[in-house]
Amino acid sequence: MVNASLANQVEQLTAIINAVPTAVIVVAPGGTMTLVNHQAQQLFGYGSEELLGQSVDMLLPQRYRQAHPALRDSFQTQPSARPMGAGRDLFGLRKDGTEFPVEIGLTPLETEEGTLVVSSINDISERKRLERRFRATIESAPTAMVMIDAQGTMVLINKELERLFGYQRDELLHHKVEMLLPPRYQAEHPSLRSGFFAAPQARRMGVGRDLFAQHKDGEEFPVEIGLSPVQTDEGTFVLAAIVDITERKQIQDAVKESEENFRLMVEGIQDYALFMLDPKGRVASWNSGAHRLKGYDEAEILGRHFSCFYTPEDIQAGKPQKELEIAKTQGRCEEESWRIRKDGSRFWANVIISALRDKQGKLRGFAKVTRDFTERKRLESLFRATVESAPIAMVMIGGDGAIQLVNAETERLFGYQRAELLDKPIEQLLPERYRPGHPAMRTGFFATPQARRMGGGRDLFALRKDGSEFPVEIGLNPVSTEAGTLVLAAIVDLTERKRTADATLQQLNDELGRSNVELQRFAYVASHDLQTPLRNVASFVELLNATYGQLLDDQGKDWIRRITQSVKQQQLLVKDLLEFSRVNAQSHPFERLPARQLVDIAVTLLESSLRESHAEIQCGELPDVTGDRSQLVQLLANLIGNAIKYRSDAPPLVQISASHQDGEWCFAIKDNGIGMEQRYLERIFEIFERLHDQRAYPGSGIGLAICRRVIQRHGGRIWVESSPGQGSTFYFTLPEQPEDKA
Ligand code: ADP
Repeated sequence: MVNASLANQVEQLTAIINAVPTAVIVVAPGGTMTLVNHQAQQLFGYGSEELLGQSVDMLLPQRYRQAHPALRDSFQTQPSARPMGAGRDLFGLRKDGTEFPVEIGLTPLETEEGTLVVSSINDISERKRLERRFRATIESAPTAMVMIDAQGTMVLINKELERLFGYQRDELLHHKVEMLLPPRYQAEHPSLRSGFFAAPQARRMGVGRDLFAQHKDGEEFPVEIGLSPVQTDEGTFVLAAIVDITERKQIQDAVKESEENFRLMVEGIQDYALFMLDPKGRVASWNSGAHRLKGYDEAEILGRHFSCFYTPEDIQAGKPQKELEIAKTQGRCEEESWRIRKDGSRFWANVIISALRDKQGKLRGFAKVTRDFTERKRLESLFRATVESAPIAMVMIGGDGAIQLVNAETERLFGYQRAELLDKPIEQLLPERYRPGHPAMRTGFFATPQARRMGGGRDLFALRKDGSEFPVEIGLNPVSTEAGTLVLAAIVDLTERKRTADATLQQLNDELGRSNVELQRFAYVASHDLQTPLRNVASFVELLNATYGQLLDDQGKDWIRRITQSVKQQQLLVKDLLEFSRVNAQSHPFERLPARQLVDIAVTLLESSLRESHAEIQCGELPDVTGDRSQLVQLLANLIGNAIKYRSDAPPLVQISASHQDGEWCFAIKDNGIGMEQRYLERIFEIFERLHDQRAYPGSGIGLAICRRVIQRHGGRIWVESSPGQGSTFYFTLPEQPEDKA
């Protein structure tokens, strides 16, 4: 039975509990439910008639039912508003038999019937789920994490923290976080902690100071700690993420140690980013060049993975990791590609990554040098474009002779596709016969590279893909690049030019030939016709002298002597000129002749002057030669004659010898005469070139010109070595198989 006032109270209470958003059940002292609101019916899945008057234990899982009455009684003896369960996990039981986590608040309500208990029940399934997820996330985080409450008690730790500090979880949970600090920091820590809780916000701990943690074994290690406040129903907690920076510190220390060297090394190089990565690829140090080049501050980039410098395409392709892998296995990785600055802009980077290892060979991290090659790339593209569009074939080769670049004209000229040439040896473009000797020449060029014409005057030929050859002219230019010296060869096809040149040369030769023949004919006729009047003058002067010589006074006699001398001189000149013009005009066919015999004939011709001068002729062993007998005799007579004529005070000694080299005979006629100055050595072979006065040494200045003609006709060369007072040696060569060049 419920009296009026109670009924009244119940009515009011029902209105209230139906208005609140949580499930509410009012329980009488004996444990029976006297009121349940809609939310409670919904939560447990019962209708009100199924609940009212029943024991509240029916809403508890079976395992708690036995203990429940006693707990209820204890509440009755000390009724106060409080949460039920004192920290234990509570569960409700639905009509369908499923359990769910709950949170229950108890409020005593004094009535005439005794103390009623108003219990508000919250389904905390969702919160529990989130909490589980939160814990799982923390548990599996690769970073050591610990959550503490405002008193510094550790309420949550993860596996990585256990590993890092060497403790078991139970040794840490519900203990003060200070146990993870080196003793010297423990005293000041609680006040710092309170400071954080007073104004909690996510931040780096101990900014500017070096932080240290202490392992269970007492060993200290440097750390970096991030703090994040976590708001929960139970108040504010702090989640601390602790990173062991031993490795990073080692790298930084190493950097500091050699900082001076570094500074000197990078000084003045503006586009140089130099930084370190830890073994996992996270940035561990940062220099000012890196800041300039990439735009990141040291504070924001330290600890970030270096893949943030790569383009999305490269990241997609796994390039950052691949490059570390190469550096790790090969010690170094160099490459060029696009990179990204903090502001998103791209630059063409030359990157060198080197692995850093300690003495034991353990990987400590990586040093990375990045340079901005954007401008260089632009110039290179420009260079390539220029080469590509040049109207001349251009080929660039490296020191190993491999083709690195060809232009469109090269493809056209040689008939290859570009891909058939790149990376192939340059010798592919040479006729077979030049290939063996080419690498040595190439090495020679690379040894002292300078822009020059190739081939030093030799005719050069190139080979097309179809096997045909063509004459070329090649200009070589060294190009210094990062990768060492390369050579850019410009190849000009001479086919057309050669054709025109040959035609022109032929024409000139024909003309020259014609005028030579005319000239020789003139010289022959002139000198021949001059001989008769000269002979007449000589005869009449002789007659005059014989007949009237006695009548003449000294003056007259002197004149006669002078006329005679001039006529002799004139006759000599005419004779020599006639000889000279005959060299080509009256030549005899070549024959095989013993040179010794030719010398003997020449000596006979010189009989009188030999005798007069007491000259000695020494003749070594001489070969058989092929040539024009009378011309060769004349050549020898001229040379031996000169050797005697241009004698010094000593009796003349003429030594004749011959040696064989490169398919020709080289003759030497050596005298002990007056010799001559260096500057005349070439000139004396010119016609009418004489070094002496007629009175000192009579002559026409034609003898050596005749010698040169004879030798030219035989396809040889003639020259002299001499110095004043030292005698002279005249050399001439005769090919073993001369072709008549008349
Ligand atoms: P030349 O009729 O004057 O001898 P060549 O043509 O034979 O004419 O010689 C030209 C010049 O070369 C001579 O005048 C002489 O000065 C010089 N010469 C030729 N042979 C000798 C020699 N064996 N020793 C010194 N000088 C020589």
